[in-house]
Amino acid sequence: MSQPTVDRALFDQVMVPNYNPQQMVPVRGRGSRVWDQAGNEYIDFAGGIAVNALGHCHPELVAALKDQADELWHLSNTFTNEPALRLAKQLTDNTFADKIFFCNSGAEANEAAFKLARKFAYDNFGPEKNEIISFKQGFHGRTLFTVSVGGQPKYREGFEPAPGGITHVPFNDIEALKAAISDKTCAVVMEPIQGEGGVIPADPDFAKAVRELCDANNALLVFDEIQTGVGRTGELYAYMGLGVTPDILTSAKALGGGFPIGAMLATDRVAPSLGFGTHGSTYGGNPLACTVADKALSLINSKEVLGAVAEKNALFIEELNKINAKHNIFSEVRSGGLLIGAELVEAWHGKAAQFLAAAREEGLMILVAGPKVIRMTPSLIIPDEDIREGMEKLERAIARVLAA
Ligand SMILES: *Cc1c(COP(=O)(O)O)cnc(C)c1O
Repeated sequence: MSQPTVDRALFDQVMVPNYNPQQMVPVRGRGSRVWDQAGNEYIDFAGGIAVNALGHCHPELVAALKDQADELWHLSNTFTNEPALRLAKQLTDNTFADKIFFCNSGAEANEAAFKLARKFAYDNFGPEKNEIISFKQGFHGRTLFTVSVGGQPKYREGFEPAPGGITHVPFNDIEALKAAISDKTCAVVMEPIQGEGGVIPADPDFAKAVRELCDANNALLVFDEIQTGVGRTGELYAYMGLGVTPDILTSAKALGGGFPIGAMLATDRVAPSLGFGTHGSTYGGNPLACTVADKALSLINSKEVLGAVAEKNALFIEELNKINAKHNIFSEVRSGGLLIGAELVEAWHGKAAQFLAAAREEGLMILVAGPKVIRMTPSLIIPDEDIREGMEKLERAIARVLAA
């Protein structure tokens, strides 16, 4: 049998239509540059949606993966393994957490976090304390529990009945949370910066007040740091910059630098509620994934990488402001480190995807966060030349969309 032609057209024939990828197929990446099947070059401001925090094919990650590939691939959790233990030690040594649970994605990390929050309340306060409060526009993944805790009804519609006991309140609105929280609340779940929901940072005073309300009501505070974690904001985790420490934190995306892994971090106070046999994952703690993540985490958790994020943020913002001075296309630019969102002026609400396609035609990969925000989550070590060159491409793409 001859090899099939694999091109973008084949996607529509053989893939479930839940995605609509751009009209090209990338085949190779190095640093912040990617090439497609036709040899076209792209600057990558998307970073695999905040995943490729060290760019594509970082030589030290490639070497770590290749070395581990010759040693041991998989065991299941019937046995432990050295890479998982090393990574767990590194995570506990460098964060508030005392205990780690590994899985394979962000949604699974949140699933574990929400289950732990319920179980901890059940064990310590009884079955009535089971309500979860989360925030409008929040995003926590695509499993049924995580779309239910997520604050975007469009991701839930048609999949009901959804799990119950979940209330959504407006983000950055402490009075709304005060009104909703009670002794029935087992957890408040929030992103330090809402990513998918439009790049909306939590007000530090709000985050502090959330912590206080949780404590006053014996509710756990869960930070979903799947997008904000592992250096994205210039801190190893965003909670460190906010000065608010959660009881449970979820991490994924950049943690594996492009190799699938998720982790739930918890304190010694709450972790025992996920006792032996209560939860699990076949692949969780996989040696290949943990090897890459252990290396990625140690490279990112350095002055060199974290210390440069603020300067790169400043360059992005400066370039975006220049584009805006010329085209008057953004109503607001919001960011936390290299999680950057540019909200389009009202006339372009609902049309953010047009800019994504135009950018691709100019040789630039960007993202959207909902229908009115252009989002960028590049590599944390993207060279300044690539930022400037990418911004020239973005300017041309914007000019093209506006002229059309
Ligand atoms: C991406 C994301 C998730 C989901 O992660 P998956 O790996 O796609 O399951 C959850 N929460 C936040 C904040 C995210 O950005």
